[in-house]
Amino acid sequence: MKKNLLDFEYNELVEYFKNLGLEKYRADQVLDWVYKKRVFDFENMTNLSKEHRNLLKEKLFVGVPKLLDMQISKIDRTTKFLWELKDGNTIESVALFHSGRVTACISTQVGCPVKCSFCATGQSGFVRNLSAGEIVGQILGIEINRKVNVGNVVYMGMGEPLLNFDETLKSIRILNHKKMLNISKRRITISTVGIPEKIMELAEKNVGVRLALSLHAPTNFKRDQIIPLNRKYSIDELIYSIKKYQETTGDRVTIEYILIKEFNDYPEDAEKLAEILKGLNVFVNLIPVNPVNPDFYRPSHWAMERFKQILERHGIESEIRVEKGTDIDAACGQLRRRNLKSK
Ligand code: SF4
Repeated sequence: MKKNLLDFEYNELVEYFKNLGLEKYRADQVLDWVYKKRVFDFENMTNLSKEHRNLLKEKLFVGVPKLLDMQISKIDRTTKFLWELKDGNTIESVALFHSGRVTACISTQVGCPVKCSFCATGQSGFVRNLSAGEIVGQILGIEINRKVNVGNVVYMGMGEPLLNFDETLKSIRILNHKKMLNISKRRITISTVGIPEKIMELAEKNVGVRLALSLHAPTNFKRDQIIPLNRKYSIDELIYSIKKYQETTGDRVTIEYILIKEFNDYPEDAEKLAEILKGLNVFVNLIPVNPVNPDFYRPSHWAMERFKQILERHGIESEIRVEKGTDIDAACGQLRRRNLKSK
């Protein structure tokens, strides 16, 4: 069976080429075609001999996913992609445009086992983990379809990255490698709903990317209702893991907090949130809920401002996230869910 070239780390590819009787500089040439020139057909890699091109075609493919649908916001150019993988499964990515930079929001799983009640992906079930190459392929897909260079990457699309830990870390090494996508680790963010032992492992392994924790509620009673995984890992355990993470890395952590009207947007929620975050070096992103679940409504602007001010009174920096792509299905999982329904 042919292998996906995007699944290879640099040293693995050099070793693989060696076993095919090809020298290291041949691997460098192929990587240059794929990651720098965006040429994915071995036939067009003109500095390789016909014999080598045929050999590589026989053994490898470049697994950039097939574009099934692309929606572009007329307001802010936010672009949502629906991709088909080799086995027919579908995943989504989003490209966000701000101050001349492009951020790719990418998926790590087909569906998601966490089943958060505010998330369209969580509602459509879990199918499988993505390979590192399938994660990396989304970036190349975005770049060639929108003719841009991706500068920032957030692991915030479909799936929980820390439940696909090894492939997520491998994909980061590929993104970061200078002969591959050469994206700085400081421009890569893993966003997690919180798996304490994996958060600690990120710190111990000195992965070096930024971390965002999707907290979304200040008490276990409320968090249990929207994130079923909270019954396994309580808020206390999560906060402890963030504390340990910061002791090792010294990094500031982003706290994501989806604001849901008359559920977690009360002043006492803000007070409680400030209490549990006390002593941590965090920045809080306040995100008005996307109405995927008809039971959830967005708070008024006034209620969101009130929440923010309470955090700031406690010395916690925060911002109300500017919504992107409001005229398209920009929230994670919406496009795929519509596509699944129409089948
Ligand atoms: S919010 Fe993230 S962790 Fe929760 S169901 Fe959606 S994709 Fe999974």
